[in-house]
Amino acid sequence: MKIAILTSGGDAPGMNAAVRGVVRYALSQGHEVIGYMRGYQGILEGDSEPLVATSVSNMIGQGGTFLQSDRCPEFLEKECRLRAFEQLKADKVDALIAIGGDGTFRGARDLYVDTGFPVIGIPATIDNDMGYTDFTIGFDTAVNNVLNAINCLRDTMHSHNKITVVEVMGRKCGNIALASGISGGAEFILVPEIPFNINQIVDEVKNSQRKGKRSNLIVLAEGAGKMEDFCVAFEMLSGIKPRQTRLGFIQRGGSPTYRDRLLACRLAKQAVDCVLEGRGNRAVGIHGTEYFDMDIEEAVNIKRKIDTDLYNFAELLN
Ligand code: ADP
Repeated sequence: MKIAILTSGGDAPGMNAAVRGVVRYALSQGHEVIGYMRGYQGILEGDSEPLVATSVSNMIGQGGTFLQSDRCPEFLEKECRLRAFEQLKADKVDALIAIGGDGTFRGARDLYVDTGFPVIGIPATIDNDMGYTDFTIGFDTAVNNVLNAINCLRDTMHSHNKITVVEVMGRKCGNIALASGISGGAEFILVPEIPFNINQIVDEVKNSQRKGKRSNLIVLAEGAGKMEDFCVAFEMLSGIKPRQTRLGFIQRGGSPTYRDRLLACRLAKQAVDCVLEGRGNRAVGIHGTEYFDMDIEEAVNIKRKIDTDLYNFAELLN
């Protein structure tokens, strides 16, 4: 068989490890792989290259994606997906493995619905915002990147009696904030899913200062509110000017962690097995220690919920 692979949407550390996993495992089973460049755009432009074992040498530890990624708004139109189907046929491809987030999965699902072409989705997004799987590739690395930054900030916070606000990624989903906040010992974690009361935060900070606490760390997901506005309001209410740090794209980069590499390898195998066993229209994922695949339409309709137990527990710890 000839399997095509692409990476699409926001890049995530571990995408390369997933591509490598697909290539090496498919080759070991006697099949061929080609890679389309820049997500769905590469299919529309017929921009592909054969991927052999050496194409993915030294890729397991590289962040980003060597196949590159792009948004491809045209793919929302059926006419474009039909063109993509013609290109896949012309390239003699039997199935497509798409690595990316929710949008990428919707594109794959629509391609399948329009044409019946077998597609498999491998979840990779730093936000960990796909409800059907416990983890997406890239999340663990992003959280560890945030933790490294928090460690650095803590050193300087303690030296100066400071309130520090760290803004992390997560427009709709507070998972990076929650995971990095709890493991970085943040005093407050602000996420888009759970409203917060700034007066209460100010009271708690002042109380803690009266008891001799020297510093407070607030981890704010970008979707929970604008960091600058939060800090202005905080200063007005408390008279204390917080330090602000926006981590931005630093969170996305760097060599993937062990957990992301292993997840990428295992999900790659699950995806190739779907192709080889004739299951199209699937999303692969992990529950606990089990790797599984399920209908991609069902997968995209499962909304991710914030872990409120963990959130409440984090409050108890602080
Ligand atoms: P992510 O995969 O990280 O969520 P996007 O939401 O940007 O990233 O989606 C990546 C690409 O997937 C889009 O640029 C587009 O080509 C395709 N896509 C997204 N949503 C749809 C949709 N509803 N129908 C078809 N294609 C889509």
